[in-house]
Amino acid sequence: MSNSLEQFKHFVAQTSDAPIGLEIEQAEGSFIHTKQGGSYVDFISGIAVSSLGHRHPAVVSAIKKQVDKHLHVMVYGEFVQEVQWNFAKELVELLPEPLEQVYLVNSGTEANEGALKLAKKSTRRTKLVAFHNSYHGDTHGSLSVTGRNVYRDPYLPLLPEVSFLHFNRIEDLAKIDTETAAVIVEPIQGEGGVIVAHLNWLQALRKRCTDVGAVLIFDEIQSGFARTGRFFAFEHYQVVPDILCLAKAMSGGMPMGAFVSSREHFKSFMYDPPLNHVTTFGGHPVSAAAALANLRVLKQGNFVAKARGIEEYARAILTGPGIVELRGMGAMLGLELRDRSLTQSVVERCFDKGILLGWTLHSNTLIRLAPPLTIPINLLVKTLESIKEAIEVAVDETIKKND
Ligand code: PMP
Repeated sequence: MSNSLEQFKHFVAQTSDAPIGLEIEQAEGSFIHTKQGGSYVDFISGIAVSSLGHRHPAVVSAIKKQVDKHLHVMVYGEFVQEVQWNFAKELVELLPEPLEQVYLVNSGTEANEGALKLAKKSTRRTKLVAFHNSYHGDTHGSLSVTGRNVYRDPYLPLLPEVSFLHFNRIEDLAKIDTETAAVIVEPIQGEGGVIVAHLNWLQALRKRCTDVGAVLIFDEIQSGFARTGRFFAFEHYQVVPDILCLAKAMSGGMPMGAFVSSREHFKSFMYDPPLNHVTTFGGHPVSAAAALANLRVLKQGNFVAKARGIEEYARAILTGPGIVELRGMGAMLGLELRDRSLTQSVVERCFDKGILLGWTLHSNTLIRLAPPLTIPINLLVKTLESIKEAIEVAVDETIKKND
């Protein structure tokens, strides 16, 4: 074990006793390079963050320019910072009504926290509805609407008046009623195993929320910014949420989140009392500059088509023994394998070959694939073929072992 890894484990608080522990030297495009001289194809993009690859030149240059102008100047919302409103304006231009104003925060979970508070404040209702198997973040509010008891139980009591319904089950929607402030949902459950919402179910959910006056929040923290083959996943469904939560791929590798809603909803943050939802660093100018550059590149290149292309290649190549299913949309894919030991062996084999694959928080038979949308086609195909080969070898070995 290197000294650096030991120091990291000793001084940086750990969330697992077996961190991957790659010692990062540099990351560029689709590759991560280690201090020891190893290179890895990044097939998970920091969990759907680096959609333009690492250190996209436009993002890096925007960051440098902003650093030369100013860093943090004042808590959220008090000073006019050109880079913030420019980003908000260009984001809103991509969105349908009533998504017309952007509240900038620092992370995904903070976007969800803000969205839940906004829904409660603007409806003056208290009940929240979420879905089994969901993941919305690890702060108390977001954890309260995360649908996995194993993660919630150690922190109980969480927010009261939260009910969990089954994802994709139409009959459950009747439980959303006129006391419901908000319903929060991922159109594609990410950490829960890349589970895609059914078209008719999401449309029925939208209708039910409209009928009872509940605020519908889409958590597109993972699915946003072209990853699923549309700019936002909700576009696959012809429905629009009342609040849209974003983060991850929004700022080209810098930390930022946002929740987007109507001016009408946001008015409720201005009164009773004023300043009732603020954040010191929300929409940090350097992150906002990165986000603006990232957005412009995403708009100019045909990344939506690139995400669809990645799915097509993956579906064509990843077939055969050991594979149960490839699910998801665009470049947000989950590869379900036959069992835990096969999955582990494939992830390890790929790692040894220099391919970084993802895992979900909630499943040990699912490999997550979320390559940068900028990945060159030859590298994409080569990597997919290597994954397939790793599966074949691992399957063969299990057969031999059982003989
Ligand atoms: N919502 C979803 C759907 C996510 O995938 C994540 C992160 N995996 C979050 C919320 C939390 O985001 P963050 O880690 O930035 O707080």
